[in-house]
Formats: sequence, structure tokens, C-alpha cells
Amino acid sequence: MSSYPDTQLFIDGQWRAATGGRVIPVMNPATARQIGTVAHASREDLDAALAAAERGFQIWKNIPAFERGKIMRKAANLLRERADAIAVLMTMENGKPLAQSKIEIAGAADVIDWFAGEGQRTYGQVIPSRAPDVLQITIKQPVGPVAAFTPWNFPINQVVRKLSAALAAGCSFIVKAPEETPASPAEMIRAFADAGLPQGVVNLVYGIPAEISEYLIPHPVIRKISFTGSTPVGKQLAALAGLHMKRATMELGGHAPVIVAGDADLDVAVPQIAMHKFRNAGQVCVSPTRFLVQENLHEEFTARFTDYAAKLKVGDGLDPATEMGPLSNERRIPALEALVNDAVEKGARLTTGGRRSGNEGWFFEPTVLADVPLSARIMNEEPFGPVAVINKFTTLDEAIAEANRLPFGLASYAYTGDTATATRLGNEIEAGMLTINHLGLALPEVPFGGMKDSGYGTEGGSEAIEAYLETRFVTRKG
Ligand code: NAD
Repeated sequence: MSSYPDTQLFIDGQWRAATGGRVIPVMNPATARQIGTVAHASREDLDAALAAAERGFQIWKNIPAFERGKIMRKAANLLRERADAIAVLMTMENGKPLAQSKIEIAGAADVIDWFAGEGQRTYGQVIPSRAPDVLQITIKQPVGPVAAFTPWNFPINQVVRKLSAALAAGCSFIVKAPEETPASPAEMIRAFADAGLPQGVVNLVYGIPAEISEYLIPHPVIRKISFTGSTPVGKQLAALAGLHMKRATMELGGHAPVIVAGDADLDVAVPQIAMHKFRNAGQVCVSPTRFLVQENLHEEFTARFTDYAAKLKVGDGLDPATEMGPLSNERRIPALEALVNDAVEKGARLTTGGRRSGNEGWFFEPTVLADVPLSARIMNEEPFGPVAVINKFTTLDEAIAEANRLPFGLASYAYTGDTATATRLGNEIEAGMLTINHLGLALPEVPFGGMKDSGYGTEGGSEAIEAYLETRFVTRKG
């Protein structure tokens, strides 16, 4: 336990305690014991971060994208070299199994590499003019200093997507990373600092989320906001950004439907989607939640899925045998219990799990509910935990209507042996992402984002960098 560090702020190229010395305790969710602290930034610290970001922007935007990319790739390699040690910190603070922490860090290095290349391709256009002596061009320029707010479920991944796109575009960056899981994102920032990122380009703060966002978003230095978290908070921050005419990217909650058509291959579908459901104890914005299974397969799917869930080895993520860790926050336990109890009271069948487990730590059993009425809260609210709901449908029209019923529209999943069904789902499911017969989401080179109440903007693919660029038009005669 002594190997877990106290996390400091990183402002203007320096690691430092908060002015005034305030700290927030950091807990290990597998033991519910304190393992360290994180510095709680004061207003003075935020002002220092803003001034540093303003200076850092002037330096970084003038470094050619080709050279920026070299520093970014060096940071990616440092992250890879340090992955084993950083993974232990991530598991201690977040709870996820060590193997999942390692995958997250390897994925983060790939994100950095990908955006390092993309920064060199921020092309403008030459637009045909109406006169032979007139030139019309667009140029892409970095939008300016960015304020980012990221959650605890993927402590590094949630920061690295925003950071890599911003840096590739030439922006400077202040991130309020998660207080619950501060050490692993701090190590990711350290990789950038050690790779030679100029002072002030990246600044890392922690504190009370609302206080920091309410100060940074309206601040004139900040030109762009990026937030990942819940829909209610996202709406508040988007409103504040709108009030101050700041551009914003919002990656919010989801309630992902999984349509399993009657011709699906359950040997592929069940292990794949069940593994995905319980990854990170279900604390994933793209976690599959509403399983809609055609009536001929419903019973078998439910039985096989329940069997998978009941056999999962739940424990401390540092134990190599562990397949699912604890919830990252104690407050999620009563929240999940309430959702499960409400569903059962309204007539759902609990086929496995449903309760807190273990004598210490914040563990919750992998849980499956079947035949859940639409009036149950869990059919309408994001569970953000290891709970799956499996309902039956008769016609594809019914399944599509249920998939699109909620205001969320982030991820969606489908299994079918029929290309016509797949094509129809591709056209009609109201979600930012749909993956059919495999799990293919969240690679750096493909779009990642939602629609409706799940937010706007994408954090992957060639469009992601656009969020950090201004398109300016210049025309010249002669
Ligand atoms: P929460 O709504 O209290 O917080 C969610 C995240 O937003 C946290 O990281 C928090 O620090 C941050 N936050 C809260 N208020 C903020 C503010 N005013 N300014 C800036 N940041 C703010 O919920 P929680 O209990 O931490 O997590 C549960 C819910 O959060 C889930 O139901 C889920 O919808 C959402 N969530 C989503 C993601 C995601 O990947 N989209 C990740 C974590 C949490």
C-alpha cells in the first residue's frame, strides 16, 4: 500500500502541493481504506494554471505539428515503458482488474500516437474563386486553451482522448482529472512532461468539480470545454459554456440497447457481450444495459448469460484471478440496490446477484434481471454498474422502438445472422455508435460520441481534432 503516491498538482511545468496545503483523501475501493491523498487546488492555483495555459498556448501553437507529433510519440513510448507500474496505481484507486488497467494504458499510448499523426493533417482548402486573380483559402488554427473535466471510470483514457486531440491541434490544456482516481492520470501527464512538452502547455488540477468548472468555463483565457460524465452535469456545463460562447464537447451517459435477433449466433453473442457488460464492473458509458432478445432465443440467452454472470470471479483487482473488481465509489452501492429492488417490486425476475458482496470494499454482485417492465426505474435510468436487463421482443419493429425509446443515444449493439436486419438497424437505431456481431467501439481512428441526451461531438476519428480547431477564411486579390 505504501507504494501509492500522494498526487500533486502540475502547473506551469512544476509538480506542487496546493497553495494552502489542502488535500482530499484517496480510497482503495477493494478495501474501503485510505491509500493516499490528492492536492485540492485553491483559486490561486487555478489562476496560476490559467496564466500558464495562456503562455503555453503561445509557445505550443507556434511549434510545427511535425515537431509536436515527435514529443507526443515520445510520451506514448514512455507510457508504454511505465505501463506495468502505472497499472498497479490505477487498479488500487479504481478497482478494475490489473489486466484491464494494462489494456487501458496500452490503448492510451495508441491514442497519443494516432493523434500525433493526425495533427499533421489539419488541412485547409483552396476554394475555386469567381475571378482569376482572387485566391480563397481556409486555414485551420488551434482554438486556444482548453478546460477538460474527466471522470474516474477510465482514469487515463478519459483524459488522453481530449489531451491528445488538443495537443495535436496546437492547443494548451487544463484538466480537472478525477479526485477518486488521481495518481494514474498524473503519471500519464508526467510522461508528457518527461517527453519534453514545454512548460504551461498541460496543467493538471483537482478539487471540488463544480467549483473548478464554474471558475474555468467562463474565464476569458479558456476557449473550449470538453466534459465526460453524467447527462445532468453535462447539461449544466453545456449551458454555462453556451452562456459564455465557449465551444464544447459533451460525452455523457448512455443506456445501451443490445438487440439479439432470433437468427443470432449465441456462441458468439453470449460470451462476448457478457464480458463487455461486466468490464470495469459495468461502470462504462457504453456498457450494454437493455438486452432485447427475440422470443425464440430469450430463455436460452437469459440462462447462458446468467450462468456467465454467476460464475464471474469478483475480487481485488490486484489478484490475477479476479475478473470483476469493486465499484469505484461507495455511493453507487445504494444506488444500484435501489434500482434492483424497484425492478423486483415491479415484477422483474432476478436471475442472479442483486446485492452488495464481501465484508470489506465496495463490491456488488454481477446481476441479471429478466422480464423487467418499462415502468421500472432501471429501464429509464443509467445503472452504471454490473446489472443487465434482459427482455423479450417479437418483431424487429418492436425492438427498434424500444431501443429508441429513451432520450439517450450513445452506444448500441446487435447480433443477427441476416444482413437485411443489420442494414435496417444501421439505419434506424438512434445512437452515435452501433457495433454488429462483434465489439468494435472506441478505437482511436473511429468516431466515439453520442446523440440526443448522450451529448455531442466525437472523441475519435478524423473529426475529433476539428473540435480543437478554428476554420478561418482568407481571400486575397492579386
Ligand atoms: P456525478 O454526476 O456526480 O459525476 C460524474 C462526473 O462528473 C464525475 O467525474 C464528477 O467529478 C464530475 N462532475 C460532477 N459535477 C461536476 C461539475 N459541476 N463540474 C465538473 N465536473 C463535475 O456522478 P458519479 O456518482 O460520479 O457517477 C455516476 C454517474 O456519472 C453515472 O450514472 C454516469 O451517468 C456518469 N458517468 C459517466 C461517465 C462516462 O464515461 N460518460 C463516467 C463517469 C460517470
